[in-house]
Amino acid sequence: MKTAQIESFFATLQAANPMPVTELEYTSVFELLAAVLLSAQATDVGVNKATRKLFPVAGTPQKILDLGLEGLENDIKTIGLYRSKAKHLMETCRILVEQHGGLVPRTREALEALPGVGRKTANVVLNSAFGEPTMAVDTHIFRLGNRTGLAPGKTPLEVEQKLLKRIPSKYLVDAHHWLILHGRYVCQARKPLCGQCAVAAFCDFKPKTSASTH
Ligand code: SF4
Repeated sequence: MKTAQIESFFATLQAANPMPVTELEYTSVFELLAAVLLSAQATDVGVNKATRKLFPVAGTPQKILDLGLEGLENDIKTIGLYRSKAKHLMETCRILVEQHGGLVPRTREALEALPGVGRKTANVVLNSAFGEPTMAVDTHIFRLGNRTGLAPGKTPLEVEQKLLKRIPSKYLVDAHHWLILHGRYVCQARKPLCGQCAVAAFCDFKPKTSASTH
């Protein structure tokens, strides 16, 4: 994908959705961090279902600690991998309380030092909570980066770095959301809906003409 096409690609996504937001529900930076931590290999809908009950009673690190591990497990047991996620979240809350005054740190280094928080989660928090132009490469963005020709790469990190380099800075803060939403609803893994795709004219995906007939 050439520079001019990249500009048009994002201008089109922006026009359709000027203020994109994550589908995870949260009302504070901590709740966002906790929701993202819980969302690994789970759907946003499933996480929201659990956190709608959890966050009103335990929306701070201290309150999660007060629940105790069993209490937390009980509240999130509908989410896949809930035992290890509960353990990670408890430990993360302990560190937030002991080392960060109960607040979520704003640096990648401090975020990635939290149990259950990897580069992708740190990128989501830096981007969605703190407005940093980071790019959390999940399965959708990895696929889109390669399929569209926007940022071909063999690893999520390679795709992340290419996206950061190639996306015009004015689109960088929101690009993460546009790409995820586009991947989730239009440029789907098995059968991309090229016939209904607003950015088809700028996309390098060759079979799009035949796929559009599905
Ligand atoms: S044209 Fe098809 S492959 Fe390209 S972005 Fe749109 S849905 Fe995805």
